[in-house]
Amino acid sequence: METIKIEYIINTVQGEGRWCGTPATLVRTFGCPVSCPWCDTGYGENKTDHGYAVMELAEILTACRERHVMITGGEPMIHRQLPEICEALIEAGKFVQIETSGAFWQDVPDDVWVTFSPKDHCSSYKSKPQFWARANEVKVVISDGREMDFYGEKLKSFKGEKLFQPEYERRQWSTPLCVQLAREYGGRLSIQAHKLLGLQIGRAHV
Ligand code: SF4
Repeated sequence: METIKIEYIINTVQGEGRWCGTPATLVRTFGCPVSCPWCDTGYGENKTDHGYAVMELAEILTACRERHVMITGGEPMIHRQLPEICEALIEAGKFVQIETSGAFWQDVPDDVWVTFSPKDHCSSYKSKPQFWARANEVKVVISDGREMDFYGEKLKSFKGEKLFQPEYERRQWSTPLCVQLAREYGGRLSIQAHKLLGLQIGRAHV
């Protein structure tokens, strides 16, 4: 495999969604062009400098100590090496989860759990329609409720898990709305547990 730019790999817990609380290795890939206004990884409108390491597949496999491996970003789907990394991790006995905006498509193995968090409402990078069939869970970040103009109809027929996550800075206002949407669509409130608990999700191994 050709090398890939990785911002960092840490052993921590998954803080969001279906696998919240699961011990997991987080692989944060480098780069994202989607530019969401509220991005909390420094790839949004207010971009910050990011370092990265150029890594070989074998180095990635060695760094993934937990059975659950979540590959996030940035936007992992911009990296053409992604399917090969997923295949190698599955071959090594890992459960692989990818978190994506869905703005780029990669044909990853069927065993990969895909968390799809579309950003059509806040970015010019629109999600690829095939994610509504491929994703295992859809996570809609709710800031003011207008997001549902983009996703409401699609969520009605979506077969996987439906998660409504308050945009963190507006959580006092948007949490009740998320609960209401969870009732309406047969979904769940998604909590960013790592933020509420002050868990370390940084560059150091935990
Ligand atoms: Fe940030 Fe994700 Fe939006 Fe990229 S898609 S700018 S990483 S929130």
